[in-house]
Formats: sequence, C-alpha cells, structure tokens
Amino acid sequence: MAQWRARARQTYIYLMLSQTIAPAPEVIEELRDAHRRSGALIVAHNYQPGWIQDLADVTGDSLQLARIAQSHPATRIVFCGVRFMAETAKILAPEKTVLLPARDAGCSLADTITAEQLAAWRDEHPGAIVVAYVNTSAAVKALADVCVTSANALEIVGSIPTDRTVLFLPDVFLGTWIKRTLRRAQMLVWHGECHVHAALEPALLERVLHDDPDAVVYVHPECGCTTSALLVDEPWSRRVRLLSTTQMVQAASTETHSRVIVATETGVLHQLRRHQGRRFEPLARSAVCTYMHRVTPTLLRAALEDGWGAVDVDPTTSAAARKSLLAMLDPARRPW
Ligand code: SF4
Repeated sequence: MAQWRARARQTYIYLMLSQTIAPAPEVIEELRDAHRRSGALIVAHNYQPGWIQDLADVTGDSLQLARIAQSHPATRIVFCGVRFMAETAKILAPEKTVLLPARDAGCSLADTITAEQLAAWRDEHPGAIVVAYVNTSAAVKALADVCVTSANALEIVGSIPTDRTVLFLPDVFLGTWIKRTLRRAQMLVWHGECHVHAALEPALLERVLHDDPDAVVYVHPECGCTTSALLVDEPWSRRVRLLSTTQMVQAASTETHSRVIVATETGVLHQLRRHQGRRFEPLARSAVCTYMHRVTPTLLRAALEDGWGAVDVDPTTSAAARKSLLAMLDPARRPW
C-alpha cells in the first residue's frame, strides 16, 4: 500500500505542474475555432480535465461515449480519454475515423491482463462464461463472452445461470463486490486493479464517515474502499452509495445532503459541482489519473486539424470484440 500512496503522491505533484491547469482563454478560443472548422465530434470522458469537458460536444462514461460515437452523424470522432475507450468506439463504429489525441494514454487496469493470460485462464475452466469489464484491450474483449460496465455489471452477471462458472476480469474490487452482492459461489475474479482507485483505501472512507456525520459518500465500485463500503453497518450504510460515474452525475441532481464526498477520479467533480447548493469534495485530492490528463492543447489541435491519433483495430479482433460488446447491449445475443 505504501507503494500506491507514493505513486498517488507523485501523480498529484505531476498534475499540479502540468496540463490540469486550463490553457489561456485565447488558446481555448483557437481550439474552438479549430473544432468548428473540423466538423469533428469531440467526446470527453467524465475523468478528463474540466477545460476539455467544457470544449467537448458531449461528456460521459466510456460506453455512453462509444455509443454516441456510433450513432452520431459525424464521421470523425475526437476521443478525449484513454486507448481502450477509443478502441471501443472504433469497434462499434468501424466505418468512422476515431482519433485519440493522446496516443500514449493507456490504463493501468486494462494492462493487468493480456489476451494470452486470458486464453490460458479460460482453458483452465472449460465451459465458463468470461465477463470482461470494458476497461480491457480489444484483444481481451475478443476472447470474452460479454462485456460489462460498472453500471450494468451486477445485472448482467446476475442473469448468468448459477450453475455456470463465471470468470470476471480484470478489476478485483468490482468483481468482489458483484460476487458478494449476488452471493455467487462459482465466480472467479482476476486480481487486477487501477492504481488510482486502489489508493482510495478503506481507512479514508471510515475516517470521513466517522468525522463528518452530515456527509454522504459516492463510491465508484472500482475503488479500494468498495469492500468496506459494502460492509459498513447502520447508520453509516445509509450514507454510502455505490455508483458508476454516470450514476453519480444523475444522483447529484436530486441529492438532498449538502455535502457529498466523492470516491473516484477527481475529474468527475467538474460536472457534479454544476449543482448549486451542495458541496462536492474528493475523498482524496490525489485521485488523479495521469493517463486521463495527457491531452494537451497542441495534441487536440493536431487531431482536429491534421487527423492526428487515428485508432485502428485489426478486422478479426474487432469482429470478435464487437460480439462481446453487442452481447452486453442486447440480452438476445448473450450465450446463456
Ligand atoms: S482512472 Fe484507472 S481505470 Fe480509469 S483510465 Fe485511469 S488507470 Fe484506467
């Protein structure tokens, strides 16, 4: 854990010194002009810095954005997020040009399992249903039976017959939460984690619940504190909500508590804070994803003006990964 804390501290310092700070107004205006001229659709993940969320045509979670990229008439999509998200958009809309301005924006969670590792795990459990969180590479999705997001994972795993073994990957916190909630015995969970969410430890959650009796806490199920969030007793349990980022944004509009502590990447606070009369604060200011903060004005402009950052997924991988994504979106396509 000391290692995670050190990494989180480094991340925080790095971001304080880098592009989290909004560019000058004239630079924003130039980007707006480039955007208008390009005819491209800019989509931004809920974890992107505020200035990018404000420039974007649409903000949301990874699946929402991929579906918008698919259904929107624009043929050029600039994806401000990380690689697996842009790949997902390209898989769902292969005929479109999908641009990832920060080409090196990876994901520590997606990196915890490779296609080779998944193939070996699957071979050890013939007949199992492989459930892959969307935070995975296209090659890993291609080997899964179905994809899930944090918003629909519980419902989808809950629909799998209980006599089938489930292999859930890669997030250990989300998987353990689902396994416990559904009391599902035949479910194996890969031990992957995101370094940002893993650093949100149970002690932080307990301290805020203890010290601030008026606060309510929104916890993303990828967090290191998820297990303790599930186990807190009355009266604390009434003040803890396990929510995806999209559900957090929705919940904020009807929130009755005046103070909300948010346990996920701090980028989501930008949208939550649009709701007047409530205070939204991070569980940890250091919960910042460096991968999400790699889009610079120069890179965004290069994507808009020169088509920088085109994402490609090879057709065979794309077709197989598309199958597992469509199985998530359409119950009739699920193999059980
Ligand atoms: S916050 Fe974590 S899961 Fe999300 S993109 Fe960053 S490293 Fe990946």
